[in-house]
Amino acid sequence: MTLLPPWLPPSAATDIGLLVDGLKPAVRIHVGDNRLEMRRWARRLGLFTSTDRDGYAVLSRSGVASRRALDIDRRPGRHTIALGRMLGYPECCNRAAARVGDEGIDALCDDIAARRFRGRFRAIDPGAYAAGRAAISHVPCSHTCIASAAMAERRVGC
Ligand SMILES: [Zn+2]
Repeated sequence: MTLLPPWLPPSAATDIGLLVDGLKPAVRIHVGDNRLEMRRWARRLGLFTSTDRDGYAVLSRSGVASRRALDIDRRPGRHTIALGRMLGYPECCNRAAARVGDEGIDALCDDIAARRFRGRFRAIDPGAYAAGRAAISHVPCSHTCIASAAMAERRVGC
């Protein structure tokens, strides 16, 4: 478990945990004014960082991947599926996010979080993400998304 610096949001624990475990190729985190600190901290972990003026950072083991993910994010128009692929989200969840668009993703998250997650799917409940206790960092396409549950199980198993 990597000790997170205090200026990162608690949810970054999930993102960075998935990256370090090799379950995501890149993660996108809001770091606010701490872009320089983010670069220094990532370098110590052997990770690459690209940051933008809006305070977002993309971390990856590959400098090319972190730059590309940030470029996709800054492109005009819809890029939900392309960005989701760069960040390693399951394709079914990318498609669900693309159907509602960036502006609808919070409502989708609330809708899915309100369902009852049973058995193995308890690990993909997005309700725990803000507190940094979630196993996955994306909004699952449903409360029974197999691809998300498989990702969460690979994480819990290590
Ligand atoms: Zn899914």
